[in-house]
Amino acid sequence: MPLTELVLDGFKSFAEKTTIHFNDGITGIVGPNGSGKSNITEAIRWVMGESSAKSLRGTNMKDVIFAGSQYRKPLNKAEVTLVFDNKDRELAFDADQVSITRRILRSGDSEFLINNQQVRMRDVRALFLDSGISPNSLAIISQGRVDQILNSRPEQRRLIFEEAAGVLHFKQQKEEAQTQLKKTQDNLIRINDLVKELE
Ligand code: ATP
Repeated sequence: MPLTELVLDGFKSFAEKTTIHFNDGITGIVGPNGSGKSNITEAIRWVMGESSAKSLRGTNMKDVIFAGSQYRKPLNKAEVTLVFDNKDRELAFDADQVSITRRILRSGDSEFLINNQQVRMRDVRALFLDSGISPNSLAIISQGRVDQILNSRPEQRRLIFEEAAGVLHFKQQKEEAQTQLKKTQDNLIRINDLVKELE
């Protein structure tokens, strides 16, 4: 499922709609300090469902919207699209090409789209997790991440392996099911109490 295209529009320093094409082989992005190289990897993580503004070097998710410069007014919307070649069906979505879009407005409204259809953030996260990647997986290694991994505790390092092996998705599903089960058990207790009162 090669990433073939990244479209940034109003995301951080990318005020103008910018399309980056990824061809076969390795793509290198070079530029002076502060020119926006890290913003590109952050844009990719953002579309994949990154929910921590801090890990995108902001305090609020709206900080990803172009904040204005000496020559340009701030924008009211940020939008990023990832386009994958999905002929190998590694993404569990039945289409040869899959485009995933995340959009946020200054009002705080935000949405996710898969092939132009509105979905929830958890659908996008699940789509990626099923294929063994996530916003924090080793598919994207940011500055300082290698040191962080080497210095992490064994339990934290185990999470990295679990994610790469595709186990993390099942663990999350298990936690969701356990929460649901607990809610149902609480409801049953309440119903039994009510039945006893009525008897
Ligand atoms: P380095 O080589 O030093 O790591 P870089 O090329 O990776 O730099 P980035 O860190 O991606 O650069 O980009 C930082 C630039 O993005 C800064 O100039 C910053 O002002 C700009 N920037 C970040 N957020 C926004 C925003 N919301 N609106 C406008 N510009 C922004």
